[in-house]
Amino acid sequence: MKVYANRTQEINESVTLRLNQKAQKLKDKGTQIYNLTAGQLPFKPDVSFVNSIKNQLNFLQSYQYSPTGGFEQLHRNLFSYMKIKYDFNFDKFSQNGKFKFKLFVSGGAKQVIFNFLGAVINPGDEVIILAPYWLSYPSMVKIWGGKPKIISRDIVDGFIPDLNEVENSITEKTKLIIINSPNNPTGIHYSKKWMERFADLMNEYPNLLCLSDEIYRDLYYFDPKPVYHYEIDSSLFARTMIVNGISKSFACTGLRVGFGLADEKIVNRVLKIQSHSSSGPNSLVQRSLINYDFEQVEKFLVDVNSHLRRNADIIKEVFKKKKLAKCWYQVNSAYYFMLDFSYTNVFKAIKKDHNSTDDLSKIICDKLLKEFGIIIVPGSDFGAPNCARVSIVLEHESFKEAMEKLTVFLNSKN
Ligand code: PLP
Repeated sequence: MKVYANRTQEINESVTLRLNQKAQKLKDKGTQIYNLTAGQLPFKPDVSFVNSIKNQLNFLQSYQYSPTGGFEQLHRNLFSYMKIKYDFNFDKFSQNGKFKFKLFVSGGAKQVIFNFLGAVINPGDEVIILAPYWLSYPSMVKIWGGKPKIISRDIVDGFIPDLNEVENSITEKTKLIIINSPNNPTGIHYSKKWMERFADLMNEYPNLLCLSDEIYRDLYYFDPKPVYHYEIDSSLFARTMIVNGISKSFACTGLRVGFGLADEKIVNRVLKIQSHSSSGPNSLVQRSLINYDFEQVEKFLVDVNSHLRRNADIIKEVFKKKKLAKCWYQVNSAYYFMLDFSYTNVFKAIKKDHNSTDDLSKIICDKLLKEFGIIIVPGSDFGAPNCARVSIVLEHESFKEAMEKLTVFLNSKN
């Protein structure tokens, strides 16, 4: 009998977490490095939220199990906030009583997505994933026995998914499409026009479900703001699983709280999985959010977004100055920029065989670390060969230094 489960052979460890640990180890040894792997802000959360946590420290309930899907008072607070923020009339939608949606809380958006997928995927179901993608989607789909179907776009098209290609890939086995706007790893959000076309596509396939990963929803630094297909056509809400959480917009990746909202029948299945895997999420953090005024985060995000905008401008300035316009596109949201090596000297120098289609991103990223002390994440794990993800959260001065060095590296001919 085999010791290890076959499913573990199909998935890899999360490369971003591994590289982040590697960067930390090098730093601890005193090596000067620029860690551009992070999917988290280098700031503490807003003081109002820290105080809210402190206020809950004296309560016994903060240390005890919460209900599996989180505290109901928290659902209420979250929901009132969503009613203000979303361009969607939740009450009107459920008024006829035919449809009931439900919120739940999990240990981070990652767990929300994992459990949503577990609630709807049957073995053999196809799940459409738009590349470059957040690297956990394909692994999660495989763990639940589904088949990822990858639709790719590259820098020439600004990494904007082609919905005609998506449509052509739909078969009778297609259960679900995952969208992620604002996007990790490309740092863009899709336009209203794209969402309108996506809404049309969803309407053409009435059995298709959508998982909308909105973890970066509030992190955009150029207008217009992100919009979603169910805000354009509210009937699509019934087939959409919405994912969000506090990791990114509260600068709290370590606190592990995420939210999901969907049809009650889906959420009830999620809760079965959650009740046997992790139970309810962190009670202390949940309680600190029950009376929390989410408007405070809006204020916190003004500075965060202007910080990101400045770093996005630094990329533009440095890349243009170094005549790397072909590797540049305008990022407008989330924390990332996707670097395409294909048009660079360093790529041409490393690519010995002109006809080869091998992915060289890992080799190039290793060379960058060795020669310039810069860590970025190879694109192979994001479904983007010969690319790499650059995190743009660093303090401006270090970020500018890193971009100057990176562009020297990209232009080097050996
Ligand atoms: N979805 C995307 C697109 C992400 O980038 C991340 C984290 O990097 C997550 C989900 C998971 O977020 P959390 O830290 O809340 O689990």
